[in-house]
Amino acid sequence: MAFGLTEPNHGSDATWLETRAVRDGSDWVISGAKRWNSVVDVAEVDLVFARTGGEDGKASGITAFLVPTGAPGFEVPFYWWTFNMPTDHAEVRLNDVCVPASAVVGEVGRGLDCAQLFVHENRIRQAASSLGAAQFCVDRSVQYTDERRLFGGRMRDYQGIQWQLVELQTEAELVRNTLYKTAWEMDVRGRTAVSDKVAMVNVRGNRLACDAADRAMQIHGGVGYSRHYPFEYIYRHHRRYRITEGSDELQYRRIAAAMWDFGSSRRSTAP
Ligand SMILES: Cc1cc2nc3c(=O)[nH]c(=O)nc-3n(C[C@H](O)[C@H](O)[C@H](O)COP(=O)(O)OP(=O)(O)OC[C@H]3O[C@@H](n4cnc5c(N)ncnc54)[C@H](O)[C@@H]3O)c2cc1C
Repeated sequence: MAFGLTEPNHGSDATWLETRAVRDGSDWVISGAKRWNSVVDVAEVDLVFARTGGEDGKASGITAFLVPTGAPGFEVPFYWWTFNMPTDHAEVRLNDVCVPASAVVGEVGRGLDCAQLFVHENRIRQAASSLGAAQFCVDRSVQYTDERRLFGGRMRDYQGIQWQLVELQTEAELVRNTLYKTAWEMDVRGRTAVSDKVAMVNVRGNRLACDAADRAMQIHGGVGYSRHYPFEYIYRHHRRYRITEGSDELQYRRIAAAMWDFGSSRRSTAP
């Protein structure tokens, strides 16, 4: 397994999807690249989006394909090093990879429907995961301040310590309630409904996990920074949630779309 530590190739300056698939009889031939293919090292197929029609930069005309990772022309030149160390997040190149028509996920030209459903569900999953991690950091910190003695007293007796954890506990309670309500609304109104609320819990939940892990490291002092405790790992792992299923800024964009009622035609031009 190769790991990339050189300056990454940022690709071309195009701001649209460049990977393309063209028909060859009943098959499709895919050429291009896909960055950040998580767990592709153990995957039998990779979900690849390619333009099959329509105009560059437009949502329609993009198709989703399930591409076998063993197909001729499917290459993994390297795996990315990240804040979370060497990873299983691969760079993938597709050199005239041929797949049958049955590899299409959903409808030809409507691949973004598939992407939207996936990220939508994963955004609330991320939020729940982050909330759990944050609560763990708070609970372990409360326990530690009960035990740790400083300057002749218990650490928990200092209001400066209490209030840091009180703020995090309050935020966790607020995120938890909005998250439960949002999940209930998704059950009742449909899986892609309330995307603005999903965006809200995603942003606040993921930020809370990072804040709580950072605070837990501080409260535990040197051992908190060590790898004998889980806080530094929680920080590294959840920090990426603020980028991956749509960055914080993209979640804001989703909330703004609901506030100002940007329709699908205007959404593509919303800042
Ligand atoms: C560890 C890791 C694992 C990943 N795994 C996968 C995977 O398995 N599958 C997959 O498909 N992808 C995966 N990704 C890719 C991930 O989805 C993208 O990195 C993410 O969507 C951000 O896109 P980008 O990197 O192109 O950043 P860009 O889109 O270039 O964004 C750069 C910055 O600009 C900001 N920005 C963009 N648009 C606006 C705007 N309109 N207003 C204000 N600010 C804006 C963004 O918020 C961000 O801060 C992974 C990424 C990482 C880091």
